Amino acid sequence: MSKQGLLIVISGPSGAGKGTICQALLERDSSFCLSVSCTTRPPRSGEKHGINYYFVGKEEFQRLIDEDQLLEYAKVYDNYYGTPRQFVVEKLAQGRDVILEIDIQGALQIKQKYPQGILIFLVPPTLSILQERLTKRGTDSPEVIAHRLNCVCDELSNTSQYDYLVTNDTVEHAVEMIEAIIKAEKCRPLHFDLQKFLTG
Ligand code: 5GP
Repeated sequence: MSKQGLLIVISGPSGAGKGTICQALLERDSSFCLSVSCTTRPPRSGEKHGINYYFVGKEEFQRLIDEDQLLEYAKVYDNYYGTPRQFVVEKLAQGRDVILEIDIQGALQIKQKYPQGILIFLVPPTLSILQERLTKRGTDSPEVIAHRLNCVCDELSNTSQYDYLVTNDTVEHAVEMIEAIIKAEKCRPLHFDLQKFLTG
């Protein structure tokens, strides 16, 4: 067992099911915790401050950047999003596995700063299934959906630095794959607790 928790980044196109998968992981294993991001995007109906995001103004977001309080940040679809540093650092130090649900730009920043982080890209089974999911979700206008679908191919061609690509065919299967990845990652020599072995 390692002392430091794992940092797990989950990215994927809008509608790939990242939110559902992350919630399922949290429900199945209490050692996981989910980082709540800051964003300048206005809340969607039903979203709550401190639960889905910390909704902040542009000035506040800039202050967080200036004070180096964000582990990574990026502009995604005209809004800024960032990961509060303190929560992640504290939880990892307590041995908790921390999940970040962030975009590719943020994921690559994490890989640079924290190479032992695990980057997982969640892929919808097909483009037409993704379109169907986004339309059914009903949270975005047809223009926004069209824009997001256009971005998917670009996103997929930028996944070479990810450690794993997982297809979200069913939630159950995708969650099992991610759990298997995490179990395997914990067996890497890097995570072996030599101190515990010697003194335990
Ligand atoms: P949405 O507005 O649909 O909630 O999120 C839009 C995109 O922003 C998604 O791809 C989501 O993963 C990404 N995102 C959410 N939080 C963060 C963050 O803290 N950092 C980065 N880089 N991307 C984020």
